[in-house]
Amino acid sequence: MCAVITERATCRLRIRRSAWEPALRRLLGRGSNFAFGSLRREAFPGGWLFLADQLEVGDTVRGGDRRSPQEDWCVVAVTNAESLQIERLISGLLPRASQTLVLLILDRQVPETCQMLLWHAGTLQPLDACEIVGSGMLRLEQHNEVDSLPDERRSSRTRGAMGAQLHDRLRSATVTIVGTGRSGSQLSFLLAAAGVGRLRLLDADTLLPENLDGMPGLTVDDLGQRKASALAHRLMCFAPNLLVTCCEHPANSEPARQLLQRPCDLLVTTVDNDAARLCISLLANRTLTPHLDIGTLVRQADSSPGRAGLFADIRLLLPGSCVACVGGLADPDAAWYELNAPPGSLQRGEPVSWSAQRSGSLAHLNTLACSIAVEIWLQLLRGEIDSWWQRLTWPTGAPLQITSSAVQGTNNCPVCHTTN
Ligand SMILES: [Zn+2]
Repeated sequence: MCAVITERATCRLRIRRSAWEPALRRLLGRGSNFAFGSLRREAFPGGWLFLADQLEVGDTVRGGDRRSPQEDWCVVAVTNAESLQIERLISGLLPRASQTLVLLILDRQVPETCQMLLWHAGTLQPLDACEIVGSGMLRLEQHNEVDSLPDERRSSRTRGAMGAQLHDRLRSATVTIVGTGRSGSQLSFLLAAAGVGRLRLLDADTLLPENLDGMPGLTVDDLGQRKASALAHRLMCFAPNLLVTCCEHPANSEPARQLLQRPCDLLVTTVDNDAARLCISLLANRTLTPHLDIGTLVRQADSSPGRAGLFADIRLLLPGSCVACVGGLADPDAAWYELNAPPGSLQRGEPVSWSAQRSGSLAHLNTLACSIAVEIWLQLLRGEIDSWWQRLTWPTGAPLQITSSAVQGTNNCPVCHTTN
């Protein structure tokens, strides 16, 4: 059973920052009048996500009549205030009826304002949003998606600490979380408390007694329910304004596919399953969506039985990097095999008991990792970091060690490498 709250159809454009910035510099520097490029298209129920990997700049644009009938394309035009007539611009671009054209019209005098239009089947309609994918995650919006004022008293402390601008971004943000166990549930509560507007939760597991101490916020009344729907219910009690969609089916099922194909602002994995993490890395790169991967481990020290070391990895992976090449897959071959195997296939190799890999779990380690993960996402939104790996190592009997570094994908990675 899948609890689904109806979502309004949206059309969004995503542009790689590596394509957008040089084009914008030339446009605003009056070097050229237009930036343009082909678009990839990802359909989801009731809407589309358009994706631009490259932009050319020039004083003239190759029109629709000189492009393939199936090609979707975009044009970024710069104008001086009222001087540009949209109808005239479109008639000059000659889009074919079979093509979709996305138009961004920037005002050179006031570059932060932007008209965003979608020309499809001979009609113009507004584009909901344009996102520049990279550090800062610049978002141009046609209109304010936030429909209601927040509970001002409740959010005043968070808003005061975070700043109104960032808090507003979170209120209009959607986060999809794959895995709603220990870290997934903690992250959900932290994101709800931070003001995130919509969460989508995906997990097929059932809540068992041994899960409960790792999932503060859930109660004994939730035992026996699916983790995703039990968590959704508790989240809605905690934050009634939060919109929650959940799916209790396996990641390779059709309902899960429908949930995952809806565009979101952040894809999160908090799962032990490498095939699922690889699957989300592929999706994140295909849809130009940031991917946040959280892993924790409690391991008994061989030399000191009864005393455990604590470990956590938090990886923020922007398009152009992924879990396959940056690191984090225990056995990449097995992950690819499982990803490509038909449902019901036998597991490759010997099944591994959870206790063979870890000693157990500690809710405070999950909360620590998730708290850091939230701040790393905020750093991305503030434009302070790009792809990033934060590692916590708390060896038995030693102080906590925190290491971090910027990361990049490799040039020949089959998941995240593009020729752009
Ligand atoms: Zn990669």
